[in-house]
Amino acid sequence: MSGPNPLERAVLAWPEAELQSNVVALVKALRGRYFHVYDSRRSVPGYPDLHVWFPNCRHPVGLFRELKTERGRLSDEQAVIIEQFRACGYDVGVWRPRDWVSGRIQNELREAAR
Ligand SMILES: [Mg+2]
Repeated sequence: MSGPNPLERAVLAWPEAELQSNVVALVKALRGRYFHVYDSRRSVPGYPDLHVWFPNCRHPVGLFRELKTERGRLSDEQAVIIEQFRACGYDVGVWRPRDWVSGRIQNELREAAR
């Protein structure tokens, strides 16, 4: 089995801001909208980084995603809110650079934008 190629390795090293700017660029390309918490210190602790929605309303609630680096850990508050959102049936999850490499992020956004 071969490991990641050089391009994939570069993506896997993305800081969270780099992951976010790539996600946001794709959201815009798909004509989606997003809300991002710019200063988490002045917001509800643990609230997901990103809420993405599409004005055609094909996806009922939009997507809530916590962004993390490859090795970033969820805080307790983040884990609690993710579980609460999930229990409410919200589309919630965590995206990491590996999910960009695998195409999961792109697939989830394209699916929500359809
Ligand atoms: Mg984050």
